[in-house]
Amino acid sequence: MKTDYDLFIDGRWMKPGARFEVRVPYDGAVFGTAPKASRAEVEQAIAAAKRAAPAAAKLPSHKRYEILMKTATLMQQRTEDFARAIASESGKPIREARGEVGRSVQTLIFSAEEAKRNVGEMVPVDAHPGGTDRLGFTLRMPRGVIAAITPFNFPLNLVCHKVGPALAGGNTVVHKPASTTPICGYMLAELFAEAGLPAGFLNTVSGGGGEVGDFLVAHPDVAMVTFTGSAEVGKHIRAVAGMKPVTLELGANCAAIVDSDADMDLALGRCATGGFAHSGQVCIHLQRIYVAGKTAGDFTDALRSRVAAFRIGHPLEDASDVTSLIDEPNAARVTDWIAEAERDGARKLIGGERAGRATVTPAILSGTQPGMKAVADEIFGPVVCVESFDSIERAVEMVNRSRYGLQAGVFTRDISRALWAAQQIECGGVMINDVPTFRVDQMPYGGVKDSGVGREGPRYALQEMTETKTVVINLTGAPR
Ligand code: NAP
Repeated sequence: MKTDYDLFIDGRWMKPGARFEVRVPYDGAVFGTAPKASRAEVEQAIAAAKRAAPAAAKLPSHKRYEILMKTATLMQQRTEDFARAIASESGKPIREARGEVGRSVQTLIFSAEEAKRNVGEMVPVDAHPGGTDRLGFTLRMPRGVIAAITPFNFPLNLVCHKVGPALAGGNTVVHKPASTTPICGYMLAELFAEAGLPAGFLNTVSGGGGEVGDFLVAHPDVAMVTFTGSAEVGKHIRAVAGMKPVTLELGANCAAIVDSDADMDLALGRCATGGFAHSGQVCIHLQRIYVAGKTAGDFTDALRSRVAAFRIGHPLEDASDVTSLIDEPNAARVTDWIAEAERDGARKLIGGERAGRATVTPAILSGTQPGMKAVADEIFGPVVCVESFDSIERAVEMVNRSRYGLQAGVFTRDISRALWAAQQIECGGVMINDVPTFRVDQMPYGGVKDSGVGREGPRYALQEMTETKTVVINLTGAPR
């Protein structure tokens, strides 16, 4: 399996001026190498995307569909290679990595289907007295060159969420993957080329966020920026992007409410998954659990038993449930936040210790306060904070006490309470009888507050990635 890649610009592989090593976060072994693009090389990628933009806009929808479907088929055939790449560079357990490949295939298929549904609408122009004798409709126009900047935690599917809809809408793309996980992005570019994507439609350039990323965002030939990553970088990008449309899919400290009438087994199973999948390095990671007072003790004990059974190991081992964080500084940050919470009165019920290079053992905290970093900020580690509540109104208040608002979960058998909570909770999506971590790739997905701006899911991303153009025909003088 190839793990050393060059730059992918204008349909060709170009030797870069500099390279860097990509390591397995679990043990630090070198997995591959990727280009460290210079500004001149990024400039070439943007120029290629700009040259190709008119051809991309003209490519018929059925061709866009065919290329996206072919890429999906090729990816499915190479599931194991992609899964090994995801597991190796991001440290995601291989079973979850296979799940990410399956989702990426679906994201490409949904994108292909949207290529055929990229329609505008009729506008009833004559509903206004001034619009008499006029016919109006809208067209969905490609924006042109789209810069796609992606994070480390889903190094394949989140790239598909940007490249798929962008191509479906007739745009060209310059993609900058995360520096820790660039290989999947290049593997995807290779697949698109094999599927017949014309030169320049997709260009992949890795390198530091502060250099390659900033340069892309500020470049006058880039028409739109679609970014997934941290709130801090997202805010910076918004400031640099000026008048360009920007989609920001950012972080969160997601919460779930477990009401006293909830199916406890269901809630426990889903919370164990939502709290610890990929060591909590998921934007919709379940970080805060609010459990109805009467049941909180039993729930916490049962969750602790489940967490104690997790097996820690190498990402390529099928038996591993938990591997490591993306790097040592992040492992140190997570244990620091836990220590800070403990200093201020929280109790650590299990885990929260460093083990190996960048591993933190899965942890449950209780007795936390809203202002603690482990509660208020995005921990992005294998930590859940479990607290009790005495009324559903209070529970919703606690969920909303956050600068973020991505997704939330509500476990209850009472449909009225569920729907009331869904309306009151301030975020982009509410999952009833599930954790905030639930996502299928065609649903509208995105946040409010510091969790971002805009929606993904191919149908919704396509709307962001195309411009509405209104056409009005003056029919005055036509035969009556
Ligand atoms: P990050 O540090 O914000 O980096 C994300 C991407 O931005 C990387 O490619 C990074 O490049 C690049 N970047 C860094 N500085 C930049 C700059 N000044 N200008 C332009 N680009 C820049 O995030 P991460 O640690 O990779 O990912 C974790 C974060 O992503 C979490 O906050 C998580 O919640 C969020 N996330 C959100 C969603 C969602 O859909 N809402 C999904 C997944 C993840 P380098 O790697 O070279 O620094």
